Amino acid sequence: MNSIAPFNRRQFLSNASQFTALYALAGSIPFSALASSVADDPRISQTPIADAGFASIRKIGDGLYATISDTSKGFVTICNGGFLVGKDASLLLEAYGSSPGAAFQMDAYRKVTQLPATNALLTHYHFDHSMGSSFYGANGVQLWGHAAVPKRIMESYVALQGADRAAFLAPTEKRVKDAKNDIARQHAQGDLGAISNLFDMANKTPLAFPNRPLDPAKLPMNLDLGHFPIVIEHYPGHSGTDLIVRVPDQKVVYAGDLVFSHAYPACFDEKCTMSGWRSTLKTFASWDKDTLFVPGHGAVCGQEGVQSLRDVFDDLALQAEKMHKAGVPLSDATDQYLLPDKFKNFAVFAWGFCIASAITKLYAEMGAS
Ligand SMILES: [Zn+2]
Repeated sequence: MNSIAPFNRRQFLSNASQFTALYALAGSIPFSALASSVADDPRISQTPIADAGFASIRKIGDGLYATISDTSKGFVTICNGGFLVGKDASLLLEAYGSSPGAAFQMDAYRKVTQLPATNALLTHYHFDHSMGSSFYGANGVQLWGHAAVPKRIMESYVALQGADRAAFLAPTEKRVKDAKNDIARQHAQGDLGAISNLFDMANKTPLAFPNRPLDPAKLPMNLDLGHFPIVIEHYPGHSGTDLIVRVPDQKVVYAGDLVFSHAYPACFDEKCTMSGWRSTLKTFASWDKDTLFVPGHGAVCGQEGVQSLRDVFDDLALQAEKMHKAGVPLSDATDQYLLPDKFKNFAVFAWGFCIASAITKLYAEMGAS
């Protein structure tokens, strides 16, 4: 007979304590669900239809809703998402960092429509967007995602289930211990918090996979939710599995993590490419000036949000190039990037996940290692 004892014995750390440390800086800045540039946009309702602190949901168009997480108030949803409601059909976005996160969004969905919830879509496989997927399975909702999502979840998160926690954390603990200076130690400590948290989340979560894989070669896909055309597209950059949902008639884009608003981009994924991401942002910037973006993290923004992310990428590239030219070895360069004053208020999820990995990839693109 199988025993469930190992699960009972495992010590689960609270998600909140670790993430709170990571977001300490971001948390000290009052969070706004809307960027100031779009605060007066007539498409956006000033009053949320649901507000749980850790996330709020508001109307951003005709049949369009955005779920915006505020991680300074908890880690139930973690990422942003939303839902689209047409005359005949609807689409929920994201499974969030936990099943209660997906359930929170579903409750709000049921407040605004009688249409049965039958379809949901993951913008990519990352834990903060996918770990609540079992909620959809349990509620008979078909889950769409890039065709590589199941494989990436298997490799990245299923592989952690039942694994040796101490062995998994050892290399990062060594980085903390061997750090050359306080800054490097601080960065390593932040990374240790993030990966400890990731390990614990993977181990306490029954993971689920999309059952409606989308082959990127067959995208874009045009769907009609009932006189409500939407387009699902794939772009390179953040995770190799990134999908966006575009509503051309209303100039609204659910961009997933291809857009971080007022935050440093997470560049850790092995399939993340700096050049690919920058060219994707160039495409986004070429769209209508009134385009409204629901980013994967941070406030709903307009084109200025895309521009400021492009500026962050430019600055990362500029500093990486300078360090590379000056002969700074990669092992030092990853800690030596300086946050410019204009981005001081930008959230950094964890140094290694965002900045060190960006510098590493930029060095690789310059032909260095
Ligand atoms: Zn992501």
